[in-house]
Amino acid sequence: MDFYGYPVSQAADITAFGAKLIPVGEDQLPLIEQCREIVRKFNSIYGEVLVEPEAVLSSSKRIKGLDGNEKMGKSLGNAIYISDSEEEINRKVMSAVTDTNRIKKDDLGNPDVCMVYYYHKLFTENEKCENVCKECKEGKRGCVACKKELAHNISEFLKPMREKRAYFEARPEEVDKILIEGTEKARKKAKETMEKVKKAMKLDYFI
Ligand code: SF4
Repeated sequence: MDFYGYPVSQAADITAFGAKLIPVGEDQLPLIEQCREIVRKFNSIYGEVLVEPEAVLSSSKRIKGLDGNEKMGKSLGNAIYISDSEEEINRKVMSAVTDTNRIKKDDLGNPDVCMVYYYHKLFTENEKCENVCKECKEGKRGCVACKKELAHNISEFLKPMREKRAYFEARPEEVDKILIEGTEKARKKAKETMEKVKKAMKLDYFI
């Protein structure tokens, strides 16, 4: 299927399961809007059959890469993964772009141009984050210590996910069971939706 059919395929993936709330990144909003339009069109012709979904955005709609790139991605080498170990996170954060005008610790910094501060705002408690900003501006904070603190906070945030991932990695039979049960549930729900759709379109002799 090419890009022409992709929005329809995605709308089918959403509507088949009657999904109401779709957690997405900002870049996915146009696709959700296309899905909503398809649903509205279908329902206007055949009645209220499909559920019109709504996008749900988190407070961090899009996270930039550690290098300051608007996009974070594997091919760009600027991303942090849930599976990254504490050492990997540390290594990656150490390479993040900071205020390049700062040479010495007591140089007055500009946190607003620094990716480390950008990430502190996402992973560090408010009060501590305000302190990062203040100390940086006053030249009372070294970039290495600042990065180490950030790496620790990111690592702590990801720890429960990393542990859960490791748990399932060591138990593939549990993963298979979850996938099989999930597939059965999804198939049942999609079948119910398809029956409603065919009935509404007077194609129910195919059921
Ligand atoms: S002290 Fe922290 S916020 Fe300031 S430039 Fe260095 S890394 Fe960035």
